[in-house]
Amino acid sequence: MNPHIFRQYDIRGVAASDLTEDVVQRIGRAFGTHLKRASRKRLVLGRDVRLSSPRIAKTIKKGLLSTGCNVIDLGVVPTPVFYFSIYRLRAQGGVMVTGSHLLKKYNGLKLCKGAETIYGKEIQKIRKIAESGKFLTGRGRENRRSVTEAYKDSVVKKNRVEKKLKVVIDPGNGTGGPIVRSILRELGCRVECINCKPDGRFPAHQPDPTVPKYMTQLVQNVLEKHADIGIGIDGDADRIGVVDELGNLVWGDKLLALYAEELLSKVPGAEIIFEVKCSQALPEYIRSLGGRPKMWKTGHSLIKAKMKRDEALLAGEMSGHMFFAHNWYGFDDAIFASARIVSILSRADASMSVLLEKIPKYFATPEVRIESTDRRKFEVVDKVKSFFSQKYRTRKIDGVRIEYGDGWGLVRASNTEPIVVARFEAKTRKRLQEIEKEIMTKVNQYNRP
Ligand SMILES: [Zn+2]
Repeated sequence: MNPHIFRQYDIRGVAASDLTEDVVQRIGRAFGTHLKRASRKRLVLGRDVRLSSPRIAKTIKKGLLSTGCNVIDLGVVPTPVFYFSIYRLRAQGGVMVTGSHLLKKYNGLKLCKGAETIYGKEIQKIRKIAESGKFLTGRGRENRRSVTEAYKDSVVKKNRVEKKLKVVIDPGNGTGGPIVRSILRELGCRVECINCKPDGRFPAHQPDPTVPKYMTQLVQNVLEKHADIGIGIDGDADRIGVVDELGNLVWGDKLLALYAEELLSKVPGAEIIFEVKCSQALPEYIRSLGGRPKMWKTGHSLIKAKMKRDEALLAGEMSGHMFFAHNWYGFDDAIFASARIVSILSRADASMSVLLEKIPKYFATPEVRIESTDRRKFEVVDKVKSFFSQKYRTRKIDGVRIEYGDGWGLVRASNTEPIVVARFEAKTRKRLQEIEKEIMTKVNQYNRP
C-alpha cells in the first residue's frame, strides 16, 4: 500500500496502481472499523463519473459492509449532493469516491465522520488501521436511495432569480452539469451548458475552473452568446469559477465579497471566514459593510471546522470552495454557489463587471509555486517568518503573511505538495514589484539545498 495516498484532506492516487482492489478493500474495512468503534454505522456512499469510480465504489462498499456498517448507495452524485444526503438521510458518515478536478487516471476518497470530512491525523489513523489488518467484522445491510431530486428542490427553494439572465455553464463533463443546468432553468434562467454530459474521460478539458486555460472555452462562449455570466464548476461540483460578461475571470475572493454583501444585508455584523491567500480588498470590503472578516488557514476541511467553531454563516477560498451556512448546511457547494451568484446578479441593477467594481482594487500576482522538498518547505517558511517578523507586522495563521500597510506577501508550505507557495499584493504595480522582490530574495536564499 502506497502510504502517500493518505493525504491531508483525502485519499488520492492513480486509480489503476494505487487504488487496487486490495488497497481499496482494506481502506473500506479500516474506515468501517474506525466508524463502528465510534458507534457510527449508518453510512452513505456516492461516486463521481470517473471511469474507475464504479469499481472503487463497489470495492469500498464490500469493505464497509464486512465490518457490519450499513451502506446507503447513492449512485453517481456530485460531492455536494453526497454531503446533503448525510443530513437528509440522517447518516452517521460516508465515503465519496471522487478524483475531483484531477486528470482522468486519478481517483480518490473523501471520508466523512458525521457530516465532517476527516483530515490530517485522522486520515493517518485510517492508514494505520488499514496497515495493521485488525478489522472489526459483521454483516452490514445495503440499500439504494436517491436524494438528487430533494437536493434540487431545496436549492431552488433557497434562491430567487428576479430577471431572465443568460447563463453559460461549463462543468467540464464532470458530475454536476445536468443538476446545475436543471436548477438554473427552474430558477428562470436561459441556460446554455457546454461540456455538460458527464464523461469520465473529460474529452474537452480537465474539469478545473481555477486554471485559466481550462476556462477559455467558457470565456469564448460567454462573449459569443452575449451571456450575463459564465459559470465553471469542477469535476465533483464543490468548486466554482465565474466569468463576467466581458470575459474576465472572477477569483474566489471577489466572488466571496459578493456573497458577503448579500449575507450582510440579511444578517448585519456577520462573521465571514476567508483564507490567507485572499486579497486585502475582501476584509476591507466586508468591514465597510459592517461585517466581521476572519482570516483562516487554507484547506476546505480546516475552513469547515473553523466555521463550525465560530458558528460563521459564510466562508470561501481562492480555489472556489464556497461554504454557505445561512439557511444551508455549511459544506462547500458549487451548485448552491451557482444559484446564489445568479440570484445576486438578477437583483442588481448592474452587470457582473460593474457589480465587481465596488470592491477595492489591488494589484496581485497569481500564486507563485516554488519547488522545494517536503522537509525543506517548512524550514523555508520558518526562516522567512523569523526574518520578517523583526521588520514588519506579520500574521502567522498559516505560513506567514507579511503586511506592509500598502500591500502584503504570503509565504506558506503547501499541505499537499513539496512546494512553497507565495502570493503578493499591493496598492500599486511598483509596490507589488518591490514587495515581491524583497520577499522572494529571502525565499530563494533559504530554499537553496
Ligand atoms: Zn472538487
